Amino acid sequence: MYTVAQLIGGVWGAGGEGGDLVVHDPADGTAVSSVPVATAEEVRKAVAAARGAATEWARTPPAERAAALHRAADAVAAAAAELAQATTVEMGKPLADARGGVDAGVSTLRQYAELAPIRGGRTLHGAAEAIDFMLPQPRGVVAAMTPWNDPVAVSCGLLGAALVTGNVVLYKPSERTPATGWLLAKAVDAALPPGVLSLLTGGPEVGAALAAQPVDVLAHVGSTTTGRAVAAAAARTGAKVLLENGGSDPLVVDADVDPRWAAEQAAIGAFANAGQICVAVERIYVHRNVAEDFVAALVERAQALRTGPGVDPATELGPLVDRRHRDHVHGQVTAAVAQGAKLRIGGTLPDGPGAFYPATVVTDCRQDMPLIREETFAPVAPVVVVDSFSEALRCAADSPYGLAATVLTASMSHAQRACRDLPVGTVKINAVFGGAPGGAAHPRRGSGQGFGYGPELLDEFTATKVVHLQAPGGGHW
Ligand code: NAD
Repeated sequence: MYTVAQLIGGVWGAGGEGGDLVVHDPADGTAVSSVPVATAEEVRKAVAAARGAATEWARTPPAERAAALHRAADAVAAAAAELAQATTVEMGKPLADARGGVDAGVSTLRQYAELAPIRGGRTLHGAAEAIDFMLPQPRGVVAAMTPWNDPVAVSCGLLGAALVTGNVVLYKPSERTPATGWLLAKAVDAALPPGVLSLLTGGPEVGAALAAQPVDVLAHVGSTTTGRAVAAAAARTGAKVLLENGGSDPLVVDADVDPRWAAEQAAIGAFANAGQICVAVERIYVHRNVAEDFVAALVERAQALRTGPGVDPATELGPLVDRRHRDHVHGQVTAAVAQGAKLRIGGTLPDGPGAFYPATVVTDCRQDMPLIREETFAPVAPVVVVDSFSEALRCAADSPYGLAATVLTASMSHAQRACRDLPVGTVKINAVFGGAPGGAAHPRRGSGQGFGYGPELLDEFTATKVVHLQAPGGGHW
C-alpha cells in the first residue's frame, strides 16, 4: 500500500487535514494507496509559499534550470519501474503501456531541458540610437492539474515545460492516480531547490480550491466539464488558462480501403488503454461499400483481445479506471441500444471483481445519439454507415469537440479535403496513432485551448516583455 505525502513549502508530509482518500486497484478492488486530502487553507498556504520561492527560481540561469531538469529526468528514469507499477495498480492499464508512458515522460523532460536554454526573444528594428528587444520571462506560479489516463507522460509535459522556463509549480495529480503523482513529484523535487515544486493531493475540491487561488497560470489536462470550471475560475482571478480536454475523435473509413486493415486500425484506436486515451477512436463513419466486411473484422479483433489485470504481461485489455466510470460507460451503451443501435459484441457487465468492461462494437448508430456526441472513454466502437466521403466528413466535423481525427483513404484528394476541412487540432491520414516527435496543435471547441505539447508549450509558460532602451537625454550610447 502506498502512503502518499504532500509537499508544501519544500516540506514533505505537510498538511492533509482534509482527511484521507483510498484508491482501489480496478483489477480486483484491493486498496492500493492512502492519500492525504488538502484543505482549502493548506492550498492557500502552499500557493503563498510557492510565490515566495518564485523570484529566486526565475533568476536562476536557464542553463542551470535545464541541468536540474536533466537530473529530474534521470531520477524519473531511475524510478521508471516503480512508476509504471503504481500506474497499473492505480488505474489498470497494462504494465508495458504504463512503462511506455513513463519512458515518454522522461524523453519529454529531456527535450525541454535541451530546448529551453537555447530559446530567446527577437530583436527589433527601431531608431538607430535605441535598442529594442523582446524578453521572455517566467510567468510565475503555475498550477498543474492532471488526469489519470496517462499520468506520468502528461504530467512530465506540464511540469517539465513550466519548471525549465523558470516557473514554480503546484502539482495536483488526479485523485485516481495520486501515488503515481507522488512518486513522480519525489523524483522531480529531488533535482530542484526546495519550494520550487509543491504537491497537493485530494479530490476535485482540492483542484477547485487551487484554481480559485491567485496563481499566474492554470494548466489543466482533463475533462471538458472540469476545463470549463477552471476557465471560469481563471476569469475571476485573471490567471492565464491552458486547457487540454476531452475529445470524441472520429475515424473515417473510405470506400477504397481494405476493410480488414481498416478494422485493425479501428481496434487499436478504440481499444488501446481500454479506450481511455484522449485521442482514442470514439466514433466510426464507414462507407457502405466496405461496412459489412469492416464490422465483421472489427468484431473478430474485439473477440481476440486478451482481457485481464494490467500486471499480467499477457493482458491486452485491462479494466476501466473504476466502477463509477464503468457505470457511466454502460449507461451510454445501453441508452444507444434503447435508441435502436445494435450490439455486435460486448456491451454487458461482466461478473467478478474489478471494473472490467468488454471490447464493444455497436452498429446502426446515428449522429444524434449521445454515444456518438459525447466522449465515451472506454473500449467502445460505435459505427455509423455513410453513403459518401462528403457525408463522412460532414458527420466527423459535427461535434462539440475538436481534438483529433483519423481518415483511412487511398485518395489523395480526400486526404487533402480532410486536412483542410476538419475542425480539429490533429488530422491523421492512414494511421490512428503516431506522428513525429514535438508535434503540437491547438485543440478546438470543447477540447481546450493553447498548446499543451511540443516546443510551443514552453511559450505558453513564458511571458514576453518588449524592451525599448534608449540613451539618456536623447543622445547616443
Ligand atoms: P478531470 O478533469 O476530472 O481531472 C483532471 C484533474 O482536474 C484532476 O487532478 C482533478 O482532481 C482536477 N479537478 C477536478 N475538478 C476540478 C475543478 N473544479 N477545478 C480544478 N481542478 C479540478 O479529468 P480526468 O477524468 O482525470 O481525465 C480524463 C479526461 O482527460 C478525459 O476527458 C480525457 O479526454 C482528458 N484528457 C485530455 C488530454 C489532452 O491532451 N487533450 C490528455 C489526457 C486526458
